[in-house]
Amino acid sequence: MSLRIYNTLSRALEDFSPLEPGHVRMYVCGMTIYDLCHIGHARMMMAFDVVQRWLKASGLRVTYVRNITDIDDKIIKRALERGITIRQLTDEMIAAMHQDIGLLGIEPPSVEPRATEYVPQMLSLIGQLEGKGLAYRASNGDVNYSVRKFDGYGKLSGKSLDELRAGERVAVLDGKEDPLDFVLWKASKPEEPPEAKWDSSFGSGRPGWHIECSAMCGATLGETFDIHGGGADLQFPHHENEIAQSEGATGKPLAKFWVHNGFVRVDNEKMSKSLGNFFTIRDVLKTYDAETVRFFIVRAHYRSALNYSDAHLDDARQALKRLYTALSLVTPSQAASIDWTNPYAARFKAAMDEDFGTPEAVAVLFDLASEVNKTRSVELAGLLQALGGCLGILQGDPKAFLQSGAAGVDESEIQAQIAARAAAKAAKNFAEADRIRNHLLAQGIVLKDSAAGTTWEAAQ
Ligand SMILES: [Zn+2]
Repeated sequence: MSLRIYNTLSRALEDFSPLEPGHVRMYVCGMTIYDLCHIGHARMMMAFDVVQRWLKASGLRVTYVRNITDIDDKIIKRALERGITIRQLTDEMIAAMHQDIGLLGIEPPSVEPRATEYVPQMLSLIGQLEGKGLAYRASNGDVNYSVRKFDGYGKLSGKSLDELRAGERVAVLDGKEDPLDFVLWKASKPEEPPEAKWDSSFGSGRPGWHIECSAMCGATLGETFDIHGGGADLQFPHHENEIAQSEGATGKPLAKFWVHNGFVRVDNEKMSKSLGNFFTIRDVLKTYDAETVRFFIVRAHYRSALNYSDAHLDDARQALKRLYTALSLVTPSQAASIDWTNPYAARFKAAMDEDFGTPEAVAVLFDLASEVNKTRSVELAGLLQALGGCLGILQGDPKAFLQSGAAGVDESEIQAQIAARAAAKAAKNFAEADRIRNHLLAQGIVLKDSAAGTTWEAAQ
């Protein structure tokens, strides 16, 4: 196979072939589940959804593991604030996550381990690390990892221990022998609920975040697997620490490829909970249909920063309409499989084989749509739909998509926008009134004002 993937470990594009012929094993760091998913989370899960889909379209079997962190400081705090158990909170948030990302067409992973179900494996790994002299019991009761005893520390982030130490702003040692040492097992505190405590030979406590992933990927995929993925912000320290733990224990490479997706930005700042500039998937789906949101994310390359704005989403909606318009002209043929020798299909494949190059792959879809517009070829329309399927788009009924104002924007939503515009006009906020009119127009809804009030019709 001719797939090349950018490997963070080598900082280069490398030829990819699975360790076990025909079978790819991939682990991706999933959500810490204390609140609703925002668009930054959706982007991470979408990036690896595209990876998974393309590996499968390339004829490979994929075992895709995406974990859930269901025990951590923020989870404990949120459950206490809401007066519910940790399990109630995490069950609720996992159900909400499945619902939200399901709407975006993100396929479920093969295995979705919850950290709390792997505590024995975590303790066993900590025991191995202690046996090898890589872990020590600190004066405060925690068990820590001793980074300077692991030779390869810093190889993923490409930094030496001294450089990493210089970047550490927190000087608090917390019983650590080195500021870069990290906690494997946190001693429990009296105020923490019983649900957050496990008995062990290291005393009552709970696992650190990093050891969770090392234990879960080892238990589900083995000592060495093909791809380890996650958001770019996890490179250091999370993934560096996973390498130190897993490779420290086994002496073998953890993953052949390390793959990281870029951030979502709002006004040139990273979208994040801590900055408060985030939009939940649910917020966005109030205004835009799920396929538009999916297309907005998918058509950017997974490693580049994705700029989030209404204008970009409106543009994605318009672009998707152009593709669906081609599909609405003829009834696409339903071929059993994609003919990869077709020049359009071959270009699409070449784009995707070059580090999942979705921007170029989407450009091929537009060329194909132009060709369908000219020739009305049912075969090419079928190919357009099938290639769209590799990206999880264009599988809906074209006429229904073109007729829906937008957003699954139903009548009541349009009426609410019309009312909001009338209110803005009454308040002489004409900028806002224009914004609403343009926003609806971008979704194919034309407003008509008359003495009797405002009505709408679909744009031609
Ligand atoms: Zn992880």
